[in-house]
Amino acid sequence: SPSAEKFEYQAEVSRLMDLIVNSLYSNKEVFLRELISNASDALDKLRFLSVTEPELMKDAVDFDIRILADKDNGIITITDTGIGMTKQELVDCLGTIAQSGTAKFLKAVKDNKGAGGDNNLIGQFGVGFYSAFLVADRVVVSTKSPKSDKQYVWEGEVNASSYTISEETDPEKLIPRGTRLTLHLKRDDKGFAHPERIEKLVKNYSQFVSFPIYTWKEKGFTKEVEVDEDPAEAKKDDQDEKKKKTKTVVEKYWDWDLTNETQPIWLRNPKEVTKEDYNEFYKKTFNEYLEPLASSHFTTEGEVEFRSILYVPPYAPSGKDDIINPKTKNIRLYVKRVFISDDFDGELFPRYLSFVKGVVDSNDLPLNVSREILQESRIVRIMRKRLVRKAFDMILGISMSDNKEDYDKFWENFGKHLKLGCIEDRENHKRIAPLLRFYSSQSDEWFISLDEYVENMKPDQKDIYYIAADSVNSAKNTPFLEKLAEKDLEVLFLVDPIDEVAIQNIKSYKEKNFVDISKEDLDLGDKNEEKEKEIKQEFSLTIDWVKKRLGDKVASVQISNRLSSSPCVLVSGKFGWSANMERLMKAQTM
Ligand code: ADP
Ligand code: MG
Repeated sequence: SPSAEKFEYQAEVSRLMDLIVNSLYSNKEVFLRELISNASDALDKLRFLSVTEPELMKDAVDFDIRILADKDNGIITITDTGIGMTKQELVDCLGTIAQSGTAKFLKAVKDNKGAGGDNNLIGQFGVGFYSAFLVADRVVVSTKSPKSDKQYVWEGEVNASSYTISEETDPEKLIPRGTRLTLHLKRDDKGFAHPERIEKLVKNYSQFVSFPIYTWKEKGFTKEVEVDEDPAEAKKDDQDEKKKKTKTVVEKYWDWDLTNETQPIWLRNPKEVTKEDYNEFYKKTFNEYLEPLASSHFTTEGEVEFRSILYVPPYAPSGKDDIINPKTKNIRLYVKRVFISDDFDGELFPRYLSFVKGVVDSNDLPLNVSREILQESRIVRIMRKRLVRKAFDMILGISMSDNKEDYDKFWENFGKHLKLGCIEDRENHKRIAPLLRFYSSQSDEWFISLDEYVENMKPDQKDIYYIAADSVNSAKNTPFLEKLAEKDLEVLFLVDPIDEVAIQNIKSYKEKNFVDISKEDLDLGDKNEEKEKEIKQEFSLTIDWVKKRLGDKVASVQISNRLSSSPCVLVSGKFGWSANMERLMKAQTM
C-alpha cells in the first residue's frame, strides 16, 4: 500500500533467510511447528500478563489457534488470539535477531560448518518465524496488540533485504486481538495448503500445545432423506401407500475442527501415556534431540497438591553450566496450567540435583507468585522435599534397570553431582549412598555399589575399607593393600578427587564405618599384644636409628604388622590429612 513504511533487516536476519532458502529445504514441514509454537507462546504471554493486567483481556475472545488452508490459491493462514505485537515490536521481533533460539541456531550452523548437518540443526533449534520462508515467498503478518489501538501489517518477501509495515485499513481484516499470519506458498510448496496435510503436521509436531488448534476442514454427516416413489410403482401396492421410501445421503459442510489434544500431558492419567509420549514431550519442551534416560510422572496429594513429570537427561551440560550453576531453566513451574517461570535458583531442587528437568504444576500457589514468595513459601519447601524424593526414586529406578548401560551412563554424567550431594545434603545421605559407585581392589575395571561391597564383606569384617589415590593403578600398587589383599578384604579405590570428602561426609553405610587403610591406627582385628611387645623390644634400636636419620621429616617411627612384603610405609596420622587430601590441598594452594 502507498502508506507502507520500508525497513531494512538486520544483517543477521538476511544471513539467516539466505540459509533457510538455500540449504534447509529437506525439512521444510517444520515451518508449521515453528509458527504454531509462536502462536502458543503469544497466548501464554497474554495469559501470564493478564494475571496482573486484567485489562489486556478486555476483548473477550477465546484463547485458540486457527489454521485455514486454501488449496485453490495456495495460501495458509494461521490466526492466534494471543498478545499480538505493537508496531515497535514488529520491528524488534521480525526485523532483528534478538531471540535466543534463533541466535543459538546461527551459532550452531557456524560451529558445524561443512558438517552438512543443517537439517538436523533446524529440528534441534528451529529457526523461528523465518522458517515461514521455507515454504512461502510472501508472508503477511497482521497483528493487534491489546496495548495499541491500531492493527499493523508486516509484509516480507523471500530473498528481499527489506520489509514493510503499514496500518491495517481493510475493515474485513480487523481482528480484536492477536496475530494473523498469511503464507503465500511457493509454487512447489502449494501442496501444504491442504487441510489433511495440516492436520497431519499438527498431530505430528504440535500435539503438546496446550491451546486448542482448529483446522478449517470439510466435514460430512449422513442422513436419511425421504424419496418420492415412482407413481406407477406406488399404485401396484395400494396397502403400502403410506409407507415412504428413504435413502442415506452424505451432507457436506465446512467447519473448524479441533486437531490437537489440549490437555497437558502431565494432567493425563499416567496409564494412558506412553513412553514415546513422555520422550516427545521432553524433546519438545526442552529443545532436546536425544531421549531422556528416565522419566517419572506423579501426583502428590495431602498437604500440598501438585503434578509433575521429571526427567533425567541423557548427558550433563558441558562447561560452565555444570554443577556449580543451579540456574538451569530445567524446571518449568505452572500454576493451574499457566506457565509461571523456569527461572529458579535452587528453590525447587538443590544445586547438586539441578540437572533434573521437568514440569511442575501446582494449584496451591498464587498465579502472581514472585521470587520472594517462592523463596519463603512453606508450600514450595514441601514441594521441594517431594520433588527431591521423586528424583531419587527415578535415579534408583535407573540403577535397578535390566539395562546396565543406563546406569553406567548416568554415573558417568552425574556421579559427580551425587558426590557433591554427599557433601551438601546431609538429610538425603540415605538416598544418595546406595547410588554411589566405586572401583575396588576386587573390581578395578568396573564400578561397584556399596551394597555390593557389603555383600562381599567377610563374616567378621566390621568396616568398609578404602584407599584414596590419584588413579586405580596407584591404588592397586600401594603397600597399604598388602595385608588386606592377603586377608582377601576388599578395598574401595577412591580415585576421583571428590570421593574422599564425599565418603567422609557419609561416615557409614548400613552401620559400617568407612575406614581409610592408610591411617596409622588401622585395626584389622589381628592384634597379638604379646608378640608385638616382643618385636618392639627386639627392634627398638633400629627404630631409634631410623628416627634419628629422618629427624623432623616424620612424626614417629613405629613397628607395624600391616605390611606383608614391603619393608616400610609412610602413613598419615589418625587426625591428619590422608596423603591424597594433602595432595589435593597442595594442588589448590599452588
Ligand atoms: P522465538 O520464538 O524463539 O522468540 P521467533 O523467530 O519464532 O523466535 O519469533 C520472534 C519473535 O517474534 C517472538 O519472540 C515474538 O516476540 C514475536 N512473534 C512471533 N510470532 C508471534 C505471534 N504469533 N504473536 C506475537 N508475537 C510473535
Ligand atoms: Mg518461535
